[in-house]
Amino acid sequence: MNAITSNSLLLPARLPLPDFPSLTNAGMKSDIEALLTEGFSLLNQANHIATGNELAFIRQLDAWENRIHQVWSVLSNLNATCNTPELRETYNALLPELSRYYTEQGQNKPLYQAYLSIHDSADFANLTTARQTSIRLALRDFKLSGVALEGDEKTRYASITERLSQLSSQFSDHLLDATQAYVRPLAEHELAGLPESSLALVKQMAASRANDFAADQKVEAAATLDAPVYIAILTYADDRALREELYRAYVTRASELATVPNATAQDNSEVLVEILALRSEMAQLLGFSSYAELSLASKMAPNVATVREFLVDIASKAIEPAKQDLVELKAEGEQSGLLDLQPWDTAYLAEKVKQRQYNLSQETLKPYFPAHVVISGLFQVAKRLYGIDIEQREAPVWADGVQYYEIMEQGKLVAGFYFDLYARSSKRGGAWMSGFRPRMRTEQGLQLPIAFMVGNFTPPVDGKPALLSHDELVTLFHEFGHGLHHMLTEVDVLSVAGVNGVAWDAVELPSQFMEFWTWEPEALALISKHDDTGESLPADMLNALLAARHFQSGMQALRQIEFALFDLDIHHAQPAPNLTQVQSILDEIRAQYSVLTPPAYNRFQHGFSHIFAGGYAAGYYSYKWAEVLASDAFDRFENEGIFNAETGQSFRQSVLAVGGSKIALETFRDFRGRDASVEALLRHNGWQSSKTTDQTV
Ligand SMILES: [Zn+2]
Repeated sequence: MNAITSNSLLLPARLPLPDFPSLTNAGMKSDIEALLTEGFSLLNQANHIATGNELAFIRQLDAWENRIHQVWSVLSNLNATCNTPELRETYNALLPELSRYYTEQGQNKPLYQAYLSIHDSADFANLTTARQTSIRLALRDFKLSGVALEGDEKTRYASITERLSQLSSQFSDHLLDATQAYVRPLAEHELAGLPESSLALVKQMAASRANDFAADQKVEAAATLDAPVYIAILTYADDRALREELYRAYVTRASELATVPNATAQDNSEVLVEILALRSEMAQLLGFSSYAELSLASKMAPNVATVREFLVDIASKAIEPAKQDLVELKAEGEQSGLLDLQPWDTAYLAEKVKQRQYNLSQETLKPYFPAHVVISGLFQVAKRLYGIDIEQREAPVWADGVQYYEIMEQGKLVAGFYFDLYARSSKRGGAWMSGFRPRMRTEQGLQLPIAFMVGNFTPPVDGKPALLSHDELVTLFHEFGHGLHHMLTEVDVLSVAGVNGVAWDAVELPSQFMEFWTWEPEALALISKHDDTGESLPADMLNALLAARHFQSGMQALRQIEFALFDLDIHHAQPAPNLTQVQSILDEIRAQYSVLTPPAYNRFQHGFSHIFAGGYAAGYYSYKWAEVLASDAFDRFENEGIFNAETGQSFRQSVLAVGGSKIALETFRDFRGRDASVEALLRHNGWQSSKTTDQTV
């Protein structure tokens, strides 16, 4: 690798950082292998921990964890952002051994006993809150990993987890293969309605999928089921039959109704039924009444009944707005003679309404959001809320365009972070935050946290600054919210510092919370400045942006709730449902909560990878749950001033500083002085009248 540094004109970094240019695959591989050997030998030593030495042993294990994380996080970041065949091979070769280590750790009885004896000792009360919580969470996780199982049950548990990981990976492989199996040439007349950027996309597809067509077939444009192409056609194509054809192909992917080549081999029917059955069996082995209850055992939400009630309550608030959304779409359809609105028409008609009613296009907004302006605006927002200063510093980085910063507070160093914001071909899609180092007390002293935030924004072209869309702005603030959670922690115990140990359904609170500032005129004045004229966002564009914010929010919310209820119900049903029952559970939810019933051939469940191949099983509700927390947290800022520094400090101390060292329910109560209320979310979605009571109509 060439020596890449972020910017040699800057002052050098103060924190010790990975020296990216000098890293090699072989070096990282052998470091991780050596650390794994050390880890397994530590686990063996757990067999003879001397009485009274338990905490010292756990600290030793923490130190090991910290060291392996430092190498592993660098390798996995490179694998995700600068992927090469060699990196992928190294990563995939190490992954099974790493998982084996954690399975063994989770079922290690002597280690469990060590935690338990600390917990039950008289000294427990004298430990710091963070250490106490970390021990409680560890005990919980031992139980959820089956540490208490013996004999046949233990063997059965191990084979279930192994089979489940195979099935998850099969589910996503099938879906990926099914998505790729479809390609369809587009005739000239079928391109009507597509804007410039979508035309470029379908032409690019024709070129990249040329091998799928006969040599003498001249294909200029092609449709695939890749998300950007599918969304572009459903949103813009005037040809209704084309939209329907694409819709049908998309919603039957990996199902028995798919018609692509090799469809039978990609059918997820049996996979999803077996996953549900094994999850249910696993829950029973661990003493839970259903997999949903097992999933909730480590989340903020207390039980299935509460989550269901929560979802049904929001659905009841969203249903009227959703019906109105539908009326609006129907009216738009009728203008062009489209009288029987179908699911493949909604995105298309919504776009028409949006353009006509709000006169809003992301393209005209972009020049107001040059990346350097947005980043400096973001830092000003952080300064006003939390009193922190952020400085760019010179550091070794992993790719061109990556920038390194340090957070200072009253002259004291607090944390460091990297921004790797722009798309490149070797980077995996999406946006995320992760850490290279957690805050932690080590033998060498206090280790400060280091985070990195990755995006796939449109890169700068022709030496001009990158211009961000408002959506990208929201994403940047979102990821930075996760970053602040990781970096402003004041906890120094590894497993509960920053985002570590935070319940899955609460972890999106700081991130969704930060998004609110991208919708505030006072903040937008700091974040926007036209690339040529230097003007901030003009009032008419600002108003259009704000007016369109809640467009179709009723229908969107109902869709999320439909997915969340389906996820919850299939994981709570006893015995585990078969394929027909899965379908009827979905049908029942749709009959109640869908304003536009999908056609009978819709096999959404066969492509629901969040719950069958990702970590969201009986946890899809988390999106809405955290949105309620974030909305309600922001509500206090609306009352006290969106830049009120005292309120900012209160949020920082109650939520960001404590990380996972306190349960989420308590951190929220500390900030709001009460439990979360759904009112603010309803208002933020525009489903209730404005907060001011003296408003005249
Ligand atoms: Zn997030």
